[in-house]
Amino acid sequence: MPSSALAAYRQLLTRIDAFAAKTRQRLGEQLYCRPGCAGCCTHIGVLPVEALALSGALAEAPPPLRERVRKRLANTAGDDCPLLEQNLCLLYDARPVICRTQGLPLLVGSGEERRIDFCPLNFRGLDSLPGEVVLDLDRLNQTLVAINLLLGEKLKREGIRMPERLRVAEALVWNPLAAAG
Ligand code: SF4
Repeated sequence: MPSSALAAYRQLLTRIDAFAAKTRQRLGEQLYCRPGCAGCCTHIGVLPVEALALSGALAEAPPPLRERVRKRLANTAGDDCPLLEQNLCLLYDARPVICRTQGLPLLVGSGEERRIDFCPLNFRGLDSLPGEVVLDLDRLNQTLVAINLLLGEKLKREGIRMPERLRVAEALVWNPLAAAG
């Protein structure tokens, strides 16, 4: 298994979750994101290292949960996320990076185009946001891409071509090392 890439990815998730928890603690009810609010759960694409973590989490899930996900995979079309059931995520603890950052105040763009972006449901009662709750999305993505490259190098040594991105439906069944035998 590409343990170094997955270990680094899990560490990154832990850091994102700690950041999100700090933001929630600081902004409280101004952060509307909560169970049942699933407007972001569509058009989700993930990097291969995220896909590998997601398919691994599914493989390790209890059989009844695996069966529910399998049924949803068979019945979900288009860009809807197959993990969304009654507006809740079936593999919440294993959800990818984008699912953990959507809704947070994100520093996006570059140069003079830098701006803070966030879900319009959030921070409605605030005139400004404290800097320490703003997540630099570009820097986060650079770290994620670097971790993904670790996986790419591993797969290359195995003679396996790594895709650029996968939809969640593809990610859940992506297991390149098993396919290579
Ligand atoms: S993985 Fe979970 S949180 Fe992410 S889009 Fe799918 S249902 Fe939503």
